[in-house]
Amino acid sequence: MKPITIAIDGPASSGKSTVAKIVAKNLGYTYLDTGAMYRSVTYLALQHQLREEQIPEILGLIRTNPISFSQTADGQQIVFAGDQDISSAIRQNAVTRNVSWLSAIPEIREELVAQQRRIAKDGAIVMDGRDIGTVVLPDAELKIFLQASVEERAQRRFKENQEKGIKTDFERLKRDIEERDYKDSHRAVSPLVPAADALIFDTTGVSIAEVVHFIQEKAEKIIDRN
Ligand code: C5P
Repeated sequence: MKPITIAIDGPASSGKSTVAKIVAKNLGYTYLDTGAMYRSVTYLALQHQLREEQIPEILGLIRTNPISFSQTADGQQIVFAGDQDISSAIRQNAVTRNVSWLSAIPEIREELVAQQRRIAKDGAIVMDGRDIGTVVLPDAELKIFLQASVEERAQRRFKENQEKGIKTDFERLKRDIEERDYKDSHRAVSPLVPAADALIFDTTGVSIAEVVHFIQEKAEKIIDRN
């Protein structure tokens, strides 16, 4: 049985990372959160007070502070820039509000996409993001595009933030999500769109377990045929 590659895309807080993580664990595959990579670069750029036009400096920061991942004993993802643990820092509002301008820069995308493809080269990976099925892994055997209403997505992120102790205003959060979706869907390079061959799944009112079941069933059928 040859391992496959699974691409999960969708707008902010559509449940991608939650389900991708579970599917990866169940299949014994690697999970890659590409949003965390764009967030890490945004964090580094903000930390060094770099702006949009300072592309060579931002690329320099990625080289001197390589992004890597590891896991705690209870399965929580840890994100490093160089040897600095930035797992919580990349979830702060300042990063969330600035990530869209940074992820619209073609040179930054090129660098991160190259890293993502290197990580995926042996297959057996579940990768989530915005352009995985369209750009990063156009040959992925299974492509899923998750959607959900803005109201529900805002509620999910609000709850997540509360659990992480991040103070959040619900209405502002909802506006930020809408704004980020708009920017991510309307940028010139690799906009957020479902791949032509992606299975589109609206998760509004659907439990995590049901979404996982849907994806896993499709994945297992393809793995069995491989
Ligand atoms: O998935 P998450 O919400 O953490 O992603 C943060 C941001 O990173 C997105 O709003 C988007 O601007 C950017 N992103 C991207 N391409 C990806 C993953 C994330 O542009 N593959």
